[in-house]
Amino acid sequence: MKALYCVLVASVVMILAGCGSVQKPGARAGVEALSLAPWRIEAEADADPDDHRPAELHRPVLLMHSTPPRYELTRSPEHPNATGKLDVPLGRRWKHIVIHHSFTESGNEEIFDNYHRNHNGWLGVGYHFVIGNGYGSDDGAIEVTFRWEKQLQGAHAGVREYNEHGIGICLVGNFEHGHPTQKQMASLVALVNYLQERCHIPTSHVLLHRHIKNTACPGKNFPFYRFISLMPH
Ligand SMILES: [Zn+2]
Repeated sequence: MKALYCVLVASVVMILAGCGSVQKPGARAGVEALSLAPWRIEAEADADPDDHRPAELHRPVLLMHSTPPRYELTRSPEHPNATGKLDVPLGRRWKHIVIHHSFTESGNEEIFDNYHRNHNGWLGVGYHFVIGNGYGSDDGAIEVTFRWEKQLQGAHAGVREYNEHGIGICLVGNFEHGHPTQKQMASLVALVNYLQERCHIPTSHVLLHRHIKNTACPGKNFPFYRFISLMPH
């Protein structure tokens, strides 16, 4: 009887020890920032970065953009000017481009990366690209995130297909109230033209977040028809 008891206790200890080595979603200790642990990708698959709304990023400063700029946009055959590795070898089947706004008045890749990492428990910033508005990074600056550099799936759409095969581009700003800047739109056109050519993505697959999910993102003031008229095909 005592022997049986010892076996039972030993079994329980072994099971507990085994469970202890399993990382649960949200657990962070000992996990490399770029770890590709399956549960982490799983946890991000339905992620929606529109939840990042740190109060410190909401400043009234951008109310100056409450009237739309006179957008002078042309189709851009030029290589987009980006901070980071844009020309990396393609490592995924990219089928869509999904455009977001940050819903914050200011921000940049690093700020969103910190927020998505620390508040959402993700690998890092959910988008592949962030385009600045002059408050947090230069107006029109394209920041290439680790998700594009390492060809990882995004955590931006809230829909699995579009996270796994959609390139997420975030424009800093709140376009429910304000408007994207001229330079942001020019950079977006150049970047999307580049990505369409590079990844063979048709214009019908260049989408706003609200086209695929019940959200206002990227805001009612995003000039979608003006923008889409500048896509190559
Ligand atoms: Zn969005």
